[in-house]
Amino acid sequence: MLFKSLYPPTPPVPDKNVYELFFNDPEQNALPDYTLYVDAESGRQIRRSEFNERVRDAATALGAPLSAGGLGLSGEKGDIVGILSSNCIDYPTLVLGSLTITVPFALLSAYPTHFELVHLLRTSKSTVLFVHPTLLRNALKAAQEVGLSHDRIFILEGGIPGRKSLQDLIDDVKRRRTPREPVRPATKKTLAYLMFSSGTTGLPKAVMVAHGNIWSTIVSQLIAGAEDLKVSPLPPPTSPVVVLAVLPFYHTYGLISFCMRPMSGYVTCVIVPRWNVEVVVRAIEKHRIGLLLLVPSMVHQLVHSGLLEKADLSSVDLISTGGAYMPPKVAERIQKLIRSTPRVMEGYGLSECTLSALRKPAPGALGGIQPILNSTGILLPSMEAKLTREDGSCVEIGEPGELWLRGDNIALGYFNDENATKETFIDGWLRSGDRFKTDGKGTFFFVDRIKDTLKISGAQVSPTEIEDVLLAHPGKLISDTSVAGVSGGRTADELLPKAWVVLSEEGRRKGADVVLKELDMWANENLSSYKRLRGGLEVVSEIPKSPTGKVLRRVLQDRHEQALKAK
Ligand code: AMP
Repeated sequence: MLFKSLYPPTPPVPDKNVYELFFNDPEQNALPDYTLYVDAESGRQIRRSEFNERVRDAATALGAPLSAGGLGLSGEKGDIVGILSSNCIDYPTLVLGSLTITVPFALLSAYPTHFELVHLLRTSKSTVLFVHPTLLRNALKAAQEVGLSHDRIFILEGGIPGRKSLQDLIDDVKRRRTPREPVRPATKKTLAYLMFSSGTTGLPKAVMVAHGNIWSTIVSQLIAGAEDLKVSPLPPPTSPVVVLAVLPFYHTYGLISFCMRPMSGYVTCVIVPRWNVEVVVRAIEKHRIGLLLLVPSMVHQLVHSGLLEKADLSSVDLISTGGAYMPPKVAERIQKLIRSTPRVMEGYGLSECTLSALRKPAPGALGGIQPILNSTGILLPSMEAKLTREDGSCVEIGEPGELWLRGDNIALGYFNDENATKETFIDGWLRSGDRFKTDGKGTFFFVDRIKDTLKISGAQVSPTEIEDVLLAHPGKLISDTSVAGVSGGRTADELLPKAWVVLSEEGRRKGADVVLKELDMWANENLSSYKRLRGGLEVVSEIPKSPTGKVLRRVLQDRHEQALKAK
């Protein structure tokens, strides 16, 4: 059975640079000027008009020829702008400046270990790197390892003596009166950026998102939003909606929501560089935040912080969550604690479909649809879906099956990874790796993730990546390992990584206790804190595998849970 979106049809995606959508919309340009970004930490602010100019200046600094003081970057020549930074105002400046001149950018996780950063730089083939000052040391070390010259590394926000920043580059071209780089033409298939995702297997892969994917995503959000507004109990805003921008900009949810969607809206983004419950609650009160975009584990922490009871949260009109399953009980709790919030909106998506595929509509939207408790939502405009069994046949209504998605927002594939692309992007369809059920009337219910990747605090954690780190221990203490999620996270569905290891001869000689201690230390040194083995480490005699050699992680997980129960 083929499921089609219930929303009105969307206009075809044009063969244009997405810059045109963001900056050449007459309705948008008719708005009175307003504050677009506020950095809650530094207090820096930028108005919309100033930001629009800055994007063009950044594009000129990146794209103008070297002889004119620019970096001479060109997408056609294979340039890729790596971005390694926590959330800051110059992040969207660089993102949109790169889009303007069709030089793809690669979004690198802001808190990587050396091992991870080397992988990200190598896979993305970044030819130039913009770094937050706090991350410069790590960047220089990793760049050396992958052969990226140190003079190709620039500072993104603020400055560091002896190293050029984005601001310096902009000042250079302005001082030299370098002619403004024109907006370079693009088709809907022109590569816009590389977003790292674990996909269904293996180390993080770089998803190739095109200008047309972004265009379709933004238009689809606008159409869905307009349908919701028709039944909203709130009047359309007469001043900018104040949005909390705490989700990381290097992840698809943060990137689209705070670096792109605001260009087609009337919003002020209050940037909070790192998640911290106290800081966020203070920011909500101080900046009178109206819209909270969060992942479920953040909502969970807010609910259990004990801070909401005492805080003034009367400004909050809407909470939107995505990135992981939102337990209805947690949604109910936050609604009770923030009484001004009429609803919690949930969305589902993956990096491979640019942002989202499913979204809970407002009650009564689309001619009277009622969002169902425990459901994930309905298909966004322009999307089609099917649910399949393992043999590829379509499931019956109510039967769980793997979700396949089709639409203009489906990415081009994985960068330089033909095999993974072939496994995931099949005949115009995206294989999601997630299991859903439907009620046959357009509403989808999340069941579980087929893929093994774990979701911790909204970020993907690949078991294979952790396994690779353990196997790379220089002492060669183990011969085999498998990593999977076990219970114990902040929410019932948030699992913690646990490793099962088989001792090598050397490992047996040293003894299990010593090996476990050494491996734990090694993992802590080489993995970001959220990827560490908080579910534990256990020695086993062998890793169970299927006849085709696939690790049976489920068997290990069940054994673990049974042992816990027996205690
Ligand atoms: P990412 O590419 O990092 O955005 O991760 C995408 C994965 O997150 C999906 O394949 C799902 O497994 C999971 N996910 C995202 N949104 C939801 C949701 N609303 N409910 C359940 N799982 C979700």
